[in-house]
This record gives sequence, C-alpha cells and structure tokens, in this order.
Amino acid sequence: MIDQILSDGARALGIQLGRREIERFSTYTSLLLEWNEKFNLTAITDPVEIAVKHHLDSLTCLKAAEFGRGALVADVGTGAGFPGVPIAIVRPDLAVTLIEATKKKLIFLEEVRRRLELPHVELVHARAEDVGKQAEYREKYDIVLARAVSVMRVLIEYSLPLVRVGGVFIAQKGPEVDGELAAAGPGIGTLGGGKPDVVRLTIPGTDIGRSMVVIKKLKPTPAHFPRSSSQIVRKPLGTRVG
Ligand code: SAM
Repeated sequence: MIDQILSDGARALGIQLGRREIERFSTYTSLLLEWNEKFNLTAITDPVEIAVKHHLDSLTCLKAAEFGRGALVADVGTGAGFPGVPIAIVRPDLAVTLIEATKKKLIFLEEVRRRLELPHVELVHARAEDVGKQAEYREKYDIVLARAVSVMRVLIEYSLPLVRVGGVFIAQKGPEVDGELAAAGPGIGTLGGGKPDVVRLTIPGTDIGRSMVVIKKLKPTPAHFPRSSSQIVRKPLGTRVG
C-alpha cells in the first residue's frame, strides 16, 4: 500500500519511481523509525504518514522550479534529511549538500547515505550562516532548499548567501505565508534576492496545502552577510530597531 501511495504521488508530480527508488524510500522509513526510538528525529511515526508528509512533501520542491541536470542543490537545516534525501533518491544526477547544525542528526544522515548508497550526497555539520561565509560554499548553489527551519526574515539570511547569482532559493512553507513574506521583503533585496514568487500546491493525494516561496538571486550578497547567528535572530533584516 505504501509503495503504491509513493508511486502514485510521485507520478502526479511527474516522477516515475523504479523498484530501486521504492526500496530506498522503504529503507529510509525503516531507518527513521528505528533511530527515532533513540533520537528524536520526527514526530511522525506512522509509515503511511511518513510517505506522504515527509517523502512526497519533499518531492513537491521539484515542482517549484526547474532543477537542471547536474545542478548543485543545498538543503539548509535538513534535520533527518527533508527535503534533501527524497530529492537525492529520485535525482541521482544532482549534487545534494545537506547542511545541519545538530551532530546526532548528522550521524543518522551518515547511516542513511551509506545504506541507501547515495554518493552524490554531501553532509556538512555546521550552521548555514557559518557555511555561507566559506568561499567553498558561498554563492555556489544553483538551488537552495529549506523546510521548517525558521521564519522567512531569518531564513533568508541563512540561505540566500549560498545561492549563486542566477540561482534560486526555495522555502517550503504552509498555506499561510503572506505575513512572514511581507516582513522579509526588505531583507530579500538587501541579500541580493529578487521579488519572491509563491507557488501554491497540495501534497499529491491530499488536501494539505503548501506555499513554495521561490526567490531568484539577482545580485551578489554583500560581504558582511550573513551576520553572526545571534544578530540574525535578534535583529532580523527588515526589522526596525530602536
Ligand atoms: N528540514 C527538516 C524537516 O523539514 O523535517 C528539519 C526541520 S527541523 C524543525 C529544523 C532543523 O534545522 C533542525 O534539525 C535544526 O537543527 C536545523 N537548523 C536550524 N537552524 C539552522 C542553521 N542556522 N543551520 C543549520 N541547521 C539549522
């Protein structure tokens, strides 16, 4: 039943899953449930719900923008691997960098990469705002993704410095995004982003709504961004202080 939900849902997103991909999703779900008993990785523990709310939800990113062949993709605050791992499963041509601040999640992701045989996945244990200051990663990615990491005005400073000029940042949000997007507006331009587009869709087979905020990088991010973690959170861009 789960395999069917996954293949039907993926097909609705224009993705044909083969036997090997279905097996990888199944192994991923088993690992998630097994490790969740020791570490708190996800609040969702029903395998059908994992298939829908984690795996298929992650794949909806592929509908929000064009993921060109061989594109460099980063997932900021990937947690237990969402949305980066499902995307890496269905698109072995992409180079996917998973960025995560919590060590125990990295240990889990090492195991996922080994068991699912995903050599095109790179793991980075760091805060995204520190990664964005390093020449090796700064403005290198065609596409940067983030799901459930922070509010937009904070998230843009974690993510936009990693996007190359001409690339895009995609934030996966719930149906209500207009308020937080308006608050982030001035900061997006400051970091080199263009006017956001919002792609609204539902997770296939459900009426669960998603807003995919797509921001194209138009100009380089000024060198003094991203700021320190505490400044980003205490004085988000666009906020009037004093
Ligand atoms: N994206 C995953 C998902 O949708 O299931 C995880 C969401 S979880 C609520 C947020 C994750 O982002 C946590 O694992 C946290 O450690 C990580 N995180 C938060 N801020 C971060 C930052 N600045 N850099 C890297 N990781 C961060």
